[in-house]
Amino acid sequence: MAPSIRWRIAVPYVLLILLSMAGLGVYLSNLVRDAYLDRLETQLATEARVIGDVIALPLAQDKPGTDLDLQAKRYADLLDARVTIIDVDGVVLGESDEDRLQMDNHLFRPEVQQALAEGQGSSIRFSRTVEYDMMYVARRVTWDDQVVGFARVALPLRQIAVDVNQLRWAVLSAALLTAGGAGLLALLIAERTARPVRQLTEVVQRVAEGDLHARLLPTTRDEVGTLTRAFNQMSDRLRGTITMLVEERGRLATVLDNMADGVVITDGDGSVRLINPAAARLLGTSEETAMGHSFAGAVRDHRIIDLWRQCREGCDELVDLIEGGHNRPFLQVVVTPLRDAEPGANLVILQDLTQVRQMETVRRDFISNISHELRTPLASLKALADTLRDGALEDPPAARRFLDRVEVEVDALTQMVQELLELSRIESGQVGFEIEPVPVVEVVQPPVERLRPQVERADLHLTIDLPSDLPLVLADVDRVRQVITNLTHNAIKFTPPGGAVTVSAAADQDEVVISVRDTGVGIPADDLPRIFERFYKADRARAGGGTGLGLAIAKHIVFAHGGRIWAESIEGRGSTFYVALPVGSP
Ligand code: ADP
Repeated sequence: MAPSIRWRIAVPYVLLILLSMAGLGVYLSNLVRDAYLDRLETQLATEARVIGDVIALPLAQDKPGTDLDLQAKRYADLLDARVTIIDVDGVVLGESDEDRLQMDNHLFRPEVQQALAEGQGSSIRFSRTVEYDMMYVARRVTWDDQVVGFARVALPLRQIAVDVNQLRWAVLSAALLTAGGAGLLALLIAERTARPVRQLTEVVQRVAEGDLHARLLPTTRDEVGTLTRAFNQMSDRLRGTITMLVEERGRLATVLDNMADGVVITDGDGSVRLINPAAARLLGTSEETAMGHSFAGAVRDHRIIDLWRQCREGCDELVDLIEGGHNRPFLQVVVTPLRDAEPGANLVILQDLTQVRQMETVRRDFISNISHELRTPLASLKALADTLRDGALEDPPAARRFLDRVEVEVDALTQMVQELLELSRIESGQVGFEIEPVPVVEVVQPPVERLRPQVERADLHLTIDLPSDLPLVLADVDRVRQVITNLTHNAIKFTPPGGAVTVSAAADQDEVVISVRDTGVGIPADDLPRIFERFYKADRARAGGGTGLGLAIAKHIVFAHGGRIWAESIEGRGSTFYVALPVGSP
């Protein structure tokens, strides 16, 4: 682990103090030693000079002997130093500490040579006699301007070494004490500096772990305070940005969840990174199974996979229509690379065009149906006119018959045009409905009763079954009667003689369901979903004179009431048409 700020600050401090104290110690001890030596040298020189003055005459008179040796010893006692008297040739004439006769010639001792040349000389040497460093100071002794000898005074440097050592110890202990104190102080300062940094680190860690509310109050005005404030600001911004992103993500997720188009995003590895419910539905999979798995595995349709592969190999955008087949949606698939946003990723959009296609089919059928419906009466009108022109006019009874038929065709055409007009008016909301609470019997009974003669003519059995306790329904009486008429009329039309037609009603929660049941030809299962389309006729051959608009009009009328209309049928066994109307209070 890296050393903490505390130690990084304290250790250099202590080292610095130790080093500078050591340097100071060495410098000071040297300074003291030099000063001491200087002083000693001056002292010894003075003493040598005094001795020199006294022995100048005896030396000049050349009276060597024990006299000078005694002198040397006496001065040595007085000065508490070693005193040596040397004649001009280097012969020791007086010596305080040793036997002068045993001593060799001293002319070439460095201090003597220096004194000979300069008047005074000094030297520090190890003395075998005392086994210590000694300072020797020699002075030239002259008489009548003649060098007559040398006076030398020497002292051991023991004291100086003791003093310097003492000084060194003093400096060292002072240094250690100061360093200790400074170290403690440095630790304290470092601790005070490091504490806010440590607190800030803890808060930063909490933010990094996801606690976006973690904050630290700036307690100082220094750099750490500024850093804390900057950090708080940054956290605020971060929280703002993250909140915004989360909201945006939420919005995006809602849009994706609720949009009708399927959206799939695959990453560079070809795995599904995002799939919305619509896409899962259109691809016949679930979000959980597809998520994180390969696109090719999640999507079973090889045409979509091929398109996606083709785009991954390099494309700007690929669009294709995928025919779904039985019970599968008809899809428009758009594959786009996400390039800049996410290299290697692809966006697949699936649009369900099944309904659009159905509408197109309805529209095409409508046009072909209306042409067909017009063609037949127009052709017979043309034929009737031709027949009249070709001579039938000459035969008045026949001409009248033809004219009657002309009238029938024109009536049929007029009815069709009227129904079309009515349908378009209802569809575009131009027809005003007067909806009010009415008894069910009032909207069901009269129209069915009015058709009773037809029922009898067709040799059918009619039953009206209306419970007496039915609630009121919300209805525009005339319009709902029109619907019931149409349904009953169809039932009569499509039921062979001997069959039965039953009109009944039942309350179901907040609606009343009126049903018209017959035992007729029924409707093929394939046609059943389409019979409410305009002009749709299940079996053209048997549809007779109908226009195929009746059920379309009925559907729009019921929808305008906020109700529902549907049919159930088994081919060959009969059909039941249901109309559900909302219950209304009086
Ligand atoms: P139309 O005026 O031709 O009867 P509708 O819109 O009322 O037109 O009916 C559309 C088609 O629905 C009819 O042509 C017929 O094929 C079918 N249809 C309607 N009612 C019945 C029924 N009760 N039994 C069998 N087929 C029916």
